[in-house]
Amino acid sequence: MTRFSLLFGLAFLLTACGGAEAPSSNSSAGVSANRSAGVLSTRQAKQLFGGMSNGSAQSAAAYGGYAKGCMAGGVQLAETGPTWQAMRLSRNRNWALPVTVDFVQDLSRIAAREPGWKGLYVGDMSQPRGGPMLTGHRSHQIGLDADIWMLPPDRLNLTRSERENISSISMRRANGAFTNDKWTKSHHNILKAAAKDPRVSRIFVFPGAKVAMCNAEKGDRSYLRKIRPWWGHHYHFHVRLSCPRGMRGCVDQSPPPRGDGCADAQQWVNNILNPPPPDPNAPKPKPRRELTLGDLPAQCSAVLSSN
Ligand SMILES: [Zn+2]
Repeated sequence: MTRFSLLFGLAFLLTACGGAEAPSSNSSAGVSANRSAGVLSTRQAKQLFGGMSNGSAQSAAAYGGYAKGCMAGGVQLAETGPTWQAMRLSRNRNWALPVTVDFVQDLSRIAAREPGWKGLYVGDMSQPRGGPMLTGHRSHQIGLDADIWMLPPDRLNLTRSERENISSISMRRANGAFTNDKWTKSHHNILKAAAKDPRVSRIFVFPGAKVAMCNAEKGDRSYLRKIRPWWGHHYHFHVRLSCPRGMRGCVDQSPPPRGDGCADAQQWVNNILNPPPPDPNAPKPKPRRELTLGDLPAQCSAVLSSN
């Protein structure tokens, strides 16, 4: 882990996939100022996409990349299924491309075979038409990302209000250098099953969990390549699917480096335990400009204006 990527990561942390604990970054004053701002293409894309309550009546497509794009023809994960519940329904982020909804349902059936797990509690996926969000995430924009809670579901009849108020649980100890005593073999098995799924391109989880998986794995290690250590991600793990084959306009992230990535994760852990001195020559992280509709692929305008 280089200093540059540490710095980059720290900047990312502020706006990354924050899960249940992400603070609101938006004031209602900001919203109304934007409503009167005029020209659509210069309005903040998060205001436009954050205001959409339904998917677009188009065929399913992702336009752009995970952190700069939108979604056509998104579908909703049912709020409750035989082996899952969607959480935080008020956010209306249980939308995704059909492939992602299928994946989440499949993974939830696998999770339900683990002792003490009735299935999965599913956190944020995407907004109805994807795009940047008013709060909480930089990615999750094209319907191919899903946050899965670490909390083992012991019941699947949570009410709406329980789903707003129950919190997931943290799996980390020592700032993410290690897993704590809540982490179980079942977490390992569920993350492993997710990583082995050919639809999945990578999974983000805190560094201590990656190292724990590296140390526990005695069999095939090839799936570990997809388990990527990242900041946060100790209340949930984040699954990112690859662009579906033939979906033009969907921009994949370059694949993870070759190998199982275990040495890099261990180095990250070492840096948590013994932080290297700050680099006086490190460039200052640039404040990130808000995305406008003009920054997104052209198709995203049609996604917004579609029925
Ligand atoms: Zn996420």
